[in-house]
Amino acid sequence: MNERDSEQVAQTFADRGYTLTPDEKEADAILINTCSVRDQAEQKALGKMGIMGKYREQREHVVFGFMGCMAQSRGEELFKRVPHLDLVVGTQKYHRVFDYVDSILSRRLETRMDEVGAEMLTGRVEEEVQGDEIVKVNLDRVISARVVDTEDEEGSQNTIKDHIPKEQQQAKAFVSIMQGCNMRCSFCIVPDTRGRERGRPISDIVEEVRSLVSKGVKEVTLLGQIVNLYGRTEFPKVDGKSPFVQLLEAVHEIEGLERIRFTSPHPIGYRDDLVAAFTYLPKLCSHIHFPMQSGSDRILKRMQRPYKNEKFLAICEKMKAARPDLAITTDVIVGFPGETEEDFQETLACMKMIGFDNSFIFRYSKRKDTPAAEMEDQLDEATKERRNQELLQMQGEMTSAKNAKLIGTVQRVLCEGPSKSNKETLCGRTTQNKIVIFNGDAERMTGQMLDIKIEDSTGYTLYGTPEVHQ
Ligand code: SF4
Repeated sequence: MNERDSEQVAQTFADRGYTLTPDEKEADAILINTCSVRDQAEQKALGKMGIMGKYREQREHVVFGFMGCMAQSRGEELFKRVPHLDLVVGTQKYHRVFDYVDSILSRRLETRMDEVGAEMLTGRVEEEVQGDEIVKVNLDRVISARVVDTEDEEGSQNTIKDHIPKEQQQAKAFVSIMQGCNMRCSFCIVPDTRGRERGRPISDIVEEVRSLVSKGVKEVTLLGQIVNLYGRTEFPKVDGKSPFVQLLEAVHEIEGLERIRFTSPHPIGYRDDLVAAFTYLPKLCSHIHFPMQSGSDRILKRMQRPYKNEKFLAICEKMKAARPDLAITTDVIVGFPGETEEDFQETLACMKMIGFDNSFIFRYSKRKDTPAAEMEDQLDEATKERRNQELLQMQGEMTSAKNAKLIGTVQRVLCEGPSKSNKETLCGRTTQNKIVIFNGDAERMTGQMLDIKIEDSTGYTLYGTPEVHQ
């Protein structure tokens, strides 16, 4: 989701004549879109911004800004941590970033023109964190603009809609359908940083997908904090179908679109109309990423997740009945405060019972300003790590066994282009979202649906050869 928001901001700059550069040394504006899910992510963003302050030495006009969740939750306070910072823009204000940066930059460049040869140095010095070091920075060289905008803004969910045109053929794209979350999971900061659920109109989303397809995109992933709750407060049910199922049907009709994915759904509001959609909408891929978090009802309650594990299991069963080749992946938090050995064993048993195709297993770490961080029965690191390793190993074995079964089969794969790890090979994904590596001509095959004979697997990755059709 952050990546999608960053793309939107980047595109507003490209639309107005700026050039995007992968080299921070030559940038006139440096923006970091921040995540607050873990304290570690915040520390990393602060460290990185601190280190980049050195670019002011050669290029005094450079504008520095934080956007996103940490900007939203910390606001003004960030100027104390990073004195060279100019801009703090929250999660409902991505569409304003360009105007702020452009005006700071113009003012700064004009001022410099007026003052060529007359650098005013009055000796104001402030200490600043740069990576692990505290260094002295001369503030008079360029005084930070210090703009903060973290207010709520009605309709902000409708502003994440533009995409950066890609030089190479683009096979797939992410489409943001909503913003915010009304849940209150005790480990999560998102409701504070992203606000309440707000959905975009179906017609706008369809228009965006249609435009992507006209540029060659074959697969879209619909994004939301809880996608299946899309539009529930804004749009009515029609024929017993939720707004999300109505949206899936509308997107499914787009000619040229081959595949639809969505992430992430939540057990609350995962109803039979969505299960049934997998029986009559063939473009829906045979994969859901369905966060379980814990297999223990006691821990789910402490996490403030308002359902029992039985419900989660029942949805998985119904989904497998609706789409027999369905792959299910999940998120699990291990070592949550108060997690006993028995709770942990319940999680382990659930993971085995469902037989996830893959899991993202997170060792619980405190997230400041959340109820879970204040819970007294925090686990020691050694216990968390032991349980983490046990889950990782079990998941690794399940994933390897599932992937090994695909050897010898022919899979329909959407070719995404050269593989990131070896540019000589191509990579794509099956409908179950499994990565396949194969040889071929990138120019001709990228964006194409191919039949690939699977010949090998190394745990998480499949290897194969494209079938030649006469
Ligand atoms: S459902 Fe829970 S974990 Fe997900 S965004 Fe909302 S509060 Fe956070």
